[in-house]
Amino acid sequence: MNVHAISVTIILARHSGDCSRLYIGFYGGEPLLEFELIKKCVEYAHERCRGKRLYFNLTTNGTVLTREMVEFFDRSDFQLMFSLDGPKEIHDLSRKFASNQGSFEKLIANVRMIRDEFPEYFKNHVVFNTVLNPENGYSCVSDFISGDELLKNSPFLAGIINPVNAKNQKSFSQKFIEEERYEHFLVLLEKIGEIPSERKSPLEAAESAMLEEFRYQKNLSGVTELPEKSHHGGPCVLGSFRMFMNVDGDLFPCEKVCENSEYAKMGNVDEGIDLEQAKRIMNIEKLTQDTCRNCWAYRYCHICVADIDLTYEDPAQSILRRCPDVRGSVEEQFKDYCILKEYGFQY
Ligand code: SF4
Repeated sequence: MNVHAISVTIILARHSGDCSRLYIGFYGGEPLLEFELIKKCVEYAHERCRGKRLYFNLTTNGTVLTREMVEFFDRSDFQLMFSLDGPKEIHDLSRKFASNQGSFEKLIANVRMIRDEFPEYFKNHVVFNTVLNPENGYSCVSDFISGDELLKNSPFLAGIINPVNAKNQKSFSQKFIEEERYEHFLVLLEKIGEIPSERKSPLEAAESAMLEEFRYQKNLSGVTELPEKSHHGGPCVLGSFRMFMNVDGDLFPCEKVCENSEYAKMGNVDEGIDLEQAKRIMNIEKLTQDTCRNCWAYRYCHICVADIDLTYEDPAQSILRRCPDVRGSVEEQFKDYCILKEYGFQY
């Protein structure tokens, strides 16, 4: 068994204290290429974490999935997340086999196999993640999912390709912006009861849920003045909610950071958490504190170590270039909040 997988399970068991529920996720590359190792990890986690309820999830491109694997995931209470970027002509642009052949057909055949042979598991444990390419349209993906008999009732998460540390930067097409805004508008209409919820895009489900939690997330109730001391809104408390280990045993705050980034590395399974580095990651606003101090979005800013772009010599500059986008998105969230309040939506 992979020695890192043992060590990280020991860290999890030792440091999870009174937590009665633990979540263990497997990401790739393609994690199913190491199915035997995954089985051993699950067995070992149950051994080491007795008395705790364990939940597992795995993100896969679905191409090497077999019945035997699904039986195991069903038995072991795994949530399966399939990466599906849209209809065949879009999905196959970026998700190909080494032969250059697209993987859409194989993925869909395996999803259908689960739906037909494990219907309860499909209903309760299968979700999809869609990476949108903003150079294309939005509706072509959304309409494909809503109209597909296999996919239309499944939960979807959607996001655009993360521009930070991306090899090829993508620009937003006018078509994408207009179509995405329209779908967002439908979500607002749904919230105030003007249209039925089936009218909204499946890709907007997470956005719709976030709108409902906005008041709570932004801690808006009862705030009348700004506190004397405050902390940047971005970084989560390291290792408290999640921790990510790569194949070399290096530890990171989560799976969203760039594994080549020395800024994001917070230790190693053999040596444990590097507290100095952890402090640096949590206090990332120190890099830009003079600007942040005068920023109205300070409390709501979600910039964290994942936003440090390694192509910049100066990490502070790589963060500051993201500020207009961050402030823009916070402003949009507040606009939605005000509009929904005005139209009577009960938060
Ligand atoms: S948007 Fe920029 S300036 Fe404002 S708090 Fe975030 S990092 Fe600081």
